[in-house]
Amino acid sequence: MVESGKLTRQQRTKYIFITGGVVSSLGKGIAAASIGLLLKSRGCRIQFQKLDPYLNVDPGTMNPYQHGEVYITADGAETDLDLGHYERFTGIETTRNSNFTAGRIYMKVIQEERLGSTLGETIQVVPHITNEIKNCILKLDTPEVDIAIVEIGGTVGDIESLPFLEALRQFNLERESGDILFIHLTLVPFIKAAGELKTKPTQHSVARLREIGIQPQVLLCRSEQEIDADLKRKLSLFCSVRREAVIEARDVRDVYEVPLLLAKEGLDELILKHFGLQLKKPAMEDWQKMLDKVRRAATPLTIAVVGKYIGLQDAYKSIYEALNHAAVDAGVALTVLRVSSENLAEVRKLPTKISGILVPGGFGTRGIDGKVLAARLCREKKIPFFGICLGMQLAAVEFAQNACKLESANSLEMDPSTPHAVIALMDSQKNIRAKGGTMRLGNYPCHLVADSKAAKAYGRDVVLERHRHRFEFNNEYREAFERQGMTFSGLSPDKHLVELMELASHPWFVGCQFHPEFRSSVLSPHPLFKGFIGAALAYNRLPHG
Ligand code: GLN
Repeated sequence: MVESGKLTRQQRTKYIFITGGVVSSLGKGIAAASIGLLLKSRGCRIQFQKLDPYLNVDPGTMNPYQHGEVYITADGAETDLDLGHYERFTGIETTRNSNFTAGRIYMKVIQEERLGSTLGETIQVVPHITNEIKNCILKLDTPEVDIAIVEIGGTVGDIESLPFLEALRQFNLERESGDILFIHLTLVPFIKAAGELKTKPTQHSVARLREIGIQPQVLLCRSEQEIDADLKRKLSLFCSVRREAVIEARDVRDVYEVPLLLAKEGLDELILKHFGLQLKKPAMEDWQKMLDKVRRAATPLTIAVVGKYIGLQDAYKSIYEALNHAAVDAGVALTVLRVSSENLAEVRKLPTKISGILVPGGFGTRGIDGKVLAARLCREKKIPFFGICLGMQLAAVEFAQNACKLESANSLEMDPSTPHAVIALMDSQKNIRAKGGTMRLGNYPCHLVADSKAAKAYGRDVVLERHRHRFEFNNEYREAFERQGMTFSGLSPDKHLVELMELASHPWFVGCQFHPEFRSSVLSPHPLFKGFIGAALAYNRLPHG
């Protein structure tokens, strides 16, 4: 199977299943992404999957406060934000087969029942739902994937996770042994009063898994403190996991340190040994260089993100990460000021505090005035501005109102009776009533106008970018905008859809209809974010009085 450290096509895809125990938010997504990176850097072809136990068909209809950002894949699926971690760490593109929810799985089974394809049968969780879960898992079993990393959402012990864990148990039974590895991510809390790390929660959580019929082979132990040899021995004994497979996962300041820490604990080596693979040492030099750059970053720079959901780190996850990637690349010590777009007074004070403003995407009317104000301040004071999706649309609204003097211009989304709908619905969207999965989603090509800031940032003529929106720039207003100095620097191939607009007379006033943040990865920061950070740095150096 393995020749001189290189993988030849093995019989079947191998599977790593990652479950979580004790509490939520332990970072299963980061663990999965880190493992993926280590295996990829050893030459394995990896793909990811996240199984989510909730009943929404996809997270597209969920409020970001409930579930964090909705991540968009290149093929247009609205997915869980963990897919963002997978892509940012590894640069591997996930697909709509990389995220399944219980809702999507139940819908498929029930639709089949209605169509009559299961006529006569009683439809049950076991075997119908569990079979469908296994079908989803098997979608990654392709000649292109050596190892599939499947993360199970939720915490072991939840009612909702049960069908998923049962499906994994069956899968494990049916598949060749040695093809599957169960990793359980758990918490080893430090109890101050006792001055000790405690293993009991982990013991209980593994006991729950074993009750279901799953014996994890690896324990990833999140903890604030070092897990010493004695503690590892204890965890090994009580959880029936081999001593070397009890892996410490200490808290870190920067999640991008996790892959190297896990490698130090020997996790990638252990995984390959389990699968009977011998591969070259991981090539992590670029990653290490990136971490060194983070440590050395000296030039301070403050950027404001003006949005509706600033209270929650995860609501604009990819935006914050993309800013970070570009900042690290530029050697900048970045501070991101999160400003609520509902707080106009706060937005008004921004020019004295920041070197650039980013207005992210969003839906609905709440907080739009602050976003419009942010665009206006940036335009008038020549502060670098980056408007993404709704951010671009509201920059267009501001420009129409104040530069083109089109009073009460607006987006149809915000004011359905506006006399100047500079942002309107495409014909294809006009009669759609359903909210789930009905937007312009996923990759679309964008042709760049030569010599524009966007074209210079990208260094190419055509790019593919990911979309998620219903509304578009209304072409009836293109001329009026151009007369006032707006350039439409990115268009769809048929030139009907505005994908990018920018002000020629401004150091960096760029709005894009797509979401570049989904294409930024640690080792390959997005060109537009690099351009924005570069412009903010230049602005930073100017004397301001
Ligand atoms: N609400 C706007 C639209 O649907 C923008 C969407 C977004 O920012 N993702 O077009």
